[in-house]
Amino acid sequence: MAIERLEEGEGNMGNILVIGEHQEGKVRKVTEELVSKAAEIGSQLSAEVLVAFVGATLPEAPDLGSFGAKKIYLVSSPKMTKYSPDGFAKVLEALIKEVSPSIVLGTAGPFGKDLFPRLSAKVGAGLATDCTNLKVHEGKLVATRPIFAGKALTDVLFQTPIQMATTRPNSFIPKVVSVGQKAELLKKEIDPGELKAVVREILQGQVGKTDLTEASVIVSGGRAMKSAENFKLLQGLADSLGATVGASRAAVDSGYASHDMQVGQTGKTVNPNLYIACGISGAIQHLAGMRTSKVIVAINKDPEAPIFKKADYGIVGDLFQLIPLLTTEFKRILSE
Ligand code: FAD
Repeated sequence: MAIERLEEGEGNMGNILVIGEHQEGKVRKVTEELVSKAAEIGSQLSAEVLVAFVGATLPEAPDLGSFGAKKIYLVSSPKMTKYSPDGFAKVLEALIKEVSPSIVLGTAGPFGKDLFPRLSAKVGAGLATDCTNLKVHEGKLVATRPIFAGKALTDVLFQTPIQMATTRPNSFIPKVVSVGQKAELLKKEIDPGELKAVVREILQGQVGKTDLTEASVIVSGGRAMKSAENFKLLQGLADSLGATVGASRAAVDSGYASHDMQVGQTGKTVNPNLYIACGISGAIQHLAGMRTSKVIVAINKDPEAPIFKKADYGIVGDLFQLIPLLTTEFKRILSE
């Protein structure tokens, strides 16, 4: 693994600030994962874990103390009823200046991907995006991130006073380190000033249940599904496993699935515990979006399909026969 050096500067060890994500007053699982990892790193650096939530409506009493958080900043601003890129960046810049963390972490979802480059520029921090692991080396953060469409991993070491990283959802397991432990809640109001852009409406995508980027089980279909109607077969399999349905670009371009279901280089990057690829050949652009999945199962009638080189388990056969069989069997086993 290579060590990439970012900007020059001196490092000093302060606390770890996690930028929390919330929806409808609830803390998202991705934040519990990240706080757990931050607590692990914090114990090696003798650093405390702080969490910040920003918005107009905030989680009232986030239960993150048990995951290792010591302080939770609830930063409200009536101007930010919805996510505002420059508003959130300005508010968090002010908070970072006040609490002086050495490490700032967020999730590499749509929110983190939009926010962190702005925030890192504002506070002059080196930023490693889309990481799959975080560790400590000689008292400093080391962020591991996939490069070359996931073919290699690189370790990023920071040389700026603030070390910033975003991590893929499902990279870490949320761990309760201290049952019943409460974090100190600190309410703040920070005015972002005039907002350059205001988000008026956020439309719900067609994907049901959990968003693909956060799903722990994904069933994806490719060109071989042949029609949008046949995708219902995949939905049945997904339902039996509590999974979210994804698609290859060929399936999306053919009109079998909507674009928000696309996995890959020009679609979503996913990191589930289980990825079942049905009738997907395994093109490099598809692998770029799912190769860090913990377990990959491929169903394909061609034993030479490239997906089998990446799969942990492969089933050679016709998906139209196999998917109904698997659905029935999973339902039976999981209802026992
Ligand atoms: P195919 O490659 O046609 O594979 C279909 C597979 O189904 C075959 O392996 C076949 O053996 C199998 N099959 C057929 N019938 C059955 C059956 N009855 N039962 C079981 N197996 C069956 N692709 C993405 O997915 N995501 C991206 O984000 C993406 N971005 C791209 C960006 C660029 C710049 C470019 C150039 C391409 C991109 N692509 C992307 C496209 C990518 O190169 C492939 O064309 C695409 O992934 C192929 O999709 P597929 O595997 O569904 O189809």
